[in-house]
Amino acid sequence: MPPKRVVLLGSTGSIGESTLEVVENLPADLKLVALAANSQWEKVFRQVLRHAPESVALSDPAGATRLEEALDRDATCRKPRVYAGARGLVDMVRATEADIVLGAVSGAAGLPANIAALETGKDLALANKESLVMSGAILTRLARERGRRLIPVDSEHSAVFQSLHAGGRDEVESIILTASGGPFREASIDEMRRATKATALRHPTWKMGAKITIDSATLMNKALEVIEARWLFDLPPEKIRVVIHPQSIVHSLVEFHDGSVVCQLGTPDMKVPIQYALTYPTRKPLATKRLRLEELSSLTFQAPDPGRFPALRLAYDVLRLGGTAPTVLNAANEVAVAAFLREEIAFLDILACVERTVRHHDVVADPTLDEIFAADAAARDAASHTIQTTPSHSR
Ligand code: NDP
Ligand code: MG
Repeated sequence: MPPKRVVLLGSTGSIGESTLEVVENLPADLKLVALAANSQWEKVFRQVLRHAPESVALSDPAGATRLEEALDRDATCRKPRVYAGARGLVDMVRATEADIVLGAVSGAAGLPANIAALETGKDLALANKESLVMSGAILTRLARERGRRLIPVDSEHSAVFQSLHAGGRDEVESIILTASGGPFREASIDEMRRATKATALRHPTWKMGAKITIDSATLMNKALEVIEARWLFDLPPEKIRVVIHPQSIVHSLVEFHDGSVVCQLGTPDMKVPIQYALTYPTRKPLATKRLRLEELSSLTFQAPDPGRFPALRLAYDVLRLGGTAPTVLNAANEVAVAAFLREEIAFLDILACVERTVRHHDVVADPTLDEIFAADAAARDAASHTIQTTPSHSR
């Protein structure tokens, strides 16, 4: 079998760089044919020299120009085709012959290229959970219609995907997503009110991009993952549960109707679910830190505190509302997290802003893609307006 041809979207990020390591370590199985990012052209330039892709795309046109100039100056490299601008990722995905696309752009920006991957008959290994939250119905329908796989990269969903092999779909009673609880798991509401960007970015077990790290601190990451699970595994919300597990060793569990609970364990390393998604249905060797149960002092579990972490309740609310409600939750959260990272709002303002935006939205049922993008844009405006006009928790 020739190596699978892989397109990597979001190559300069945390998942992107781990994916490049995975691909590099399995040359007989995986071949990187295209990569894309937003604006970090120098990093992309180094990636081109090392991995020699056929194509690259940068959403930022100025970055794409700088990259082209650098490639022209370098006589040693085989120059890839360079795509530029907002449509660049979509055009590249459409034009590239590939077996699988790994979607690891952060946020809603990843959605169009993920859709393009399925539309042009490629499997989609998905890290970009925001796109499933926005348009889970459309992405899963596309995968079904085109007979392509939509394979989770998110560690919890990979764990569920792996555990589901232990039984039939109609034998599943519930799935249980684990959450580390983030840096404020034990914090008082007063401490959370005073949380700074630096403390919120200090995740206890995973090293990830800034946006998802803040989402882990608010538990919005788990809220997005509940919605992600609803689509990936076609389960009603009441069959999806969340438990706090601070050690991040049990990555998630499936409970079957005979009472058996099956789970996947491992030391926290995103290369494991990334590689599994890319090599599925086979498992390849991976040099990751081995789990030695006898070296662990304990594995603990506790119920999440809905008072300090309202994000989870909101996830179930928007699933009940359906239609464009999850899109609005995601868009408002992206705006609020960006404002928090610019230190314009306090930590607790993030959820206050998201909740307010969701409550004021008129849900469109069974939305088209255009209606999803319209709801996304309107929610971004509404959330920005809230941020500019509402007194902050910190003041
Ligand atoms: P990072 O912030 O580390 O990286 C984001 C990547 O997306 C970068 O390559 C960035 O490019 C690119 N990007 C952002 N906006 C655009 C755009 N408009 N056009 C093209 N590329 C863009 O994020 P992570 O790697 O942490 O996360 C990526 C996705 O994976 C997220 O959806 C996250 O929720 C999910 N995920 C991440 C996990 C993790 O462990 N990190 C775990 C599970 C899921 P540039 O560098 O040029 O800005
Ligand atoms: Mg996760």
